[in-house]
Amino acid sequence: MRKDSVIAVDMGGTNIRTAIIDRSQTILYRNVQATGPDPLATLKELLQDSVSAAKTALSGIGIATAGLIDHKTCRILSSPNLNNLAGADLKGIVEGWHNMPVVIENDANAAAYGEKIAGAGADKNDFILLTLGTGIGGGIVTGGRLLKSAVEAGHIKISSTGSQCSCGDTGCLEAYASGWAMVNSAIQGIEAGTESIIKQMYNGNFYKITPEGIYEAALEGDSLARGVLREAGRHLGIGIGSLINIFSPEAVILTGGLTGAWNIYVDAAIKEASKRALKDLLTEDMIIPSALQGDAGIIGAAFLVFDKSS
Ligand SMILES: [Zn+2]
Repeated sequence: MRKDSVIAVDMGGTNIRTAIIDRSQTILYRNVQATGPDPLATLKELLQDSVSAAKTALSGIGIATAGLIDHKTCRILSSPNLNNLAGADLKGIVEGWHNMPVVIENDANAAAYGEKIAGAGADKNDFILLTLGTGIGGGIVTGGRLLKSAVEAGHIKISSTGSQCSCGDTGCLEAYASGWAMVNSAIQGIEAGTESIIKQMYNGNFYKITPEGIYEAALEGDSLARGVLREAGRHLGIGIGSLINIFSPEAVILTGGLTGAWNIYVDAAIKEASKRALKDLLTEDMIIPSALQGDAGIIGAAFLVFDKSS
């Protein structure tokens, strides 16, 4: 095995994480900084630190980033959570800083590839990964390779009506099953007069509720919180059922903060997906948790670089 390594980056709206990873999937170095108002300046500093920390030859830089990427031009088409990066030629910019190959990939796609390399998809050739957090993202591995498509799973339509999504449309999976949708639903329930311990939890200012807080309340037996999680999960299951019908995957791998509420939210999704997917395409235990969680994106980004350089 060649003794080179790569720098892998996970660019999110809150933090930018960097790592040096070798071909045996060992993470040799890690760093993290708050993304801040100027993501490019933060990235530049973190990359400089990584280059200085590298003890073996570097084969390139792999960047997993939030946002929609044009796979032909490698430009970021839009990235709601990263200031000033819409339209940016991130690959060109980073290649200008460091004289080595740079690969850019959407963060959910990179996470899917990471799970293929070293996680819950290692023994599978066809699977879907869904990232379940504030928003919903997706990535697909088909025939053992990463599908270079947007896979905006959060914006598949599960209703002809409903509340407005962050994309401007209505009826999106994300508007029913994401973290922000759960928060909206809990707030609407309390505003409508439904009793809930969420009010006490936040000293009356229930507008501060988070998905974690909803789960906490649900574990205390709060019926509003349990209902919010179950309904979000049921809608997630409708979306997963459609994805199973289209891609007939071996597995649907779930990752992200919301999977912490597995026993209510994901259980409801599994139950609903089992009703919605075609029986012949369903297998038992096909909806499974990620093995790598937060490291899937950097491992995937690293191996997209190794694949190019080998
Ligand atoms: Zn949408």
